[in-house]
Amino acid sequence: MHPNFDLSDCYTIQGKLALPYTYFAGSVGSIFLTTLRDRRKIMGIKCHTCGKVFVPPRQTCERCLEDIRDQWVELGDTGTLENFTVVRYADRHLPRRPPFVLGLIRLDGADTPLLHLVAGVVVDRVAEGLRVRAVFAAQPENTILGIDHFQPL
Ligand SMILES: [Zn+2]
Repeated sequence: MHPNFDLSDCYTIQGKLALPYTYFAGSVGSIFLTTLRDRRKIMGIKCHTCGKVFVPPRQTCERCLEDIRDQWVELGDTGTLENFTVVRYADRHLPRRPPFVLGLIRLDGADTPLLHLVAGVVVDRVAEGLRVRAVFAAQPENTILGIDHFQPL
């Protein structure tokens, strides 16, 4: 520490970042997104060694550390809300106007949750265990927003 530095000289600077970015979805992510876009199907990957089903899919099983990229399974569009948060602040980068629900949804037959929007619920009454169904976007893009949101069954 500099000899003339005193902690009372410290201060913080508040700011906001707008950070546009592009990233490679990878071969597994690309198949997942294009199948969602073109066929309106939600695909996962099942590790044939331990049986774990990953949605969103991944290339390597986190348990077995095996390459599982060719072990695709098709899932349905229903699942259970495992956890959630209510977003109550506005930001131009958010996909909806607040308040809205972001949930961890475990699709039926999957072992891992998918983060997505939950709509059609009163935000202050949403609860874990809610049964939901995917609503596909009318004009899907190459993103997870090919599913527009999930709504209660
Ligand atoms: Zn495995």
